[in-house]
Amino acid sequence: MRLTVLGSGSRGNALLLEAGADALLVDAGFSFRELCRRIAAAGLEPTAIRGIVLTHEHGDHTRGAARAAAAWGVPVWATAGTLAALGDRLVPAPATAPLEQSRRTRCGGFFVTAFPTAHDAADPVVVVVEDGSGRRVGVAYDAGFPTAALAFACRDLDALVLETNHDEVMLRSSRYPPSVRARIAGRGGHLSNAQAAALAAEVAHAGLAALVLAHLSDRCNTPELARAAVERALVGTAFRGALVVASQNEPLPTLDVGSGLGQLSLPLGRR
Ligand SMILES: [Zn+2]
Ligand SMILES: [Zn+2]
Repeated sequence: MRLTVLGSGSRGNALLLEAGADALLVDAGFSFRELCRRIAAAGLEPTAIRGIVLTHEHGDHTRGAARAAAAWGVPVWATAGTLAALGDRLVPAPATAPLEQSRRTRCGGFFVTAFPTAHDAADPVVVVVEDGSGRRVGVAYDAGFPTAALAFACRDLDALVLETNHDEVMLRSSRYPPSVRARIAGRGGHLSNAQAAALAAEVAHAGLAALVLAHLSDRCNTPELARAAVERALVGTAFRGALVVASQNEPLPTLDVGSGLGQLSLPLGRR
């Protein structure tokens, strides 16, 4: 399976998974035009896209979904609560279909399993996408706080896209009003670097080809802080894959997560 993170952050999230002749878009949080620009910039074609999976209804995950689905003639999959919350905002998508929690749903040439997360949306989920050869990629954005369900979803993956939203010190000293700071750090908000690092250490294993740190706050985090927190936590684990930080503005190079080892950065310990 190949993973291309098209962009991630509070201004938009989207990634593309490819296996054989099929591709699946997970979240479509950029305008349709911007999605097309990023897909082309990554050297990919939208013709292989068989559908769009949405993790929850927030605009930074769904902005371009309806137009993209209509233009590509593909369905949108999301939990029933997310579909209901989006309502008319999914017009003119040609079809929608529910993702049932904790059950595998066939989506194009893939199987998607959704797990509940703690986030201030109607029915938000982390998704695990499996290809026909059993490779599994997890996408965990907007995860609130580390629940047992989240840790379960992140186990035994070939690649994991994991939210590292904020550095706690930067958040506490930020100019956000106290109510916003409380929402971000609270149980319905976002994972901090430290929370994500602890989770990464818990689920890291020798077969995890890539760990992508995503959904970084541009005010309360830096790529260096997120990476350092996770790197520290991974010392002593069996993880030997690629550790990369997603960008809000540009796609990451495509990661091959089908060969057992990611191909972007040097394994930990060899830097
Ligand atoms: Zn959200
Ligand atoms: Zn978000």
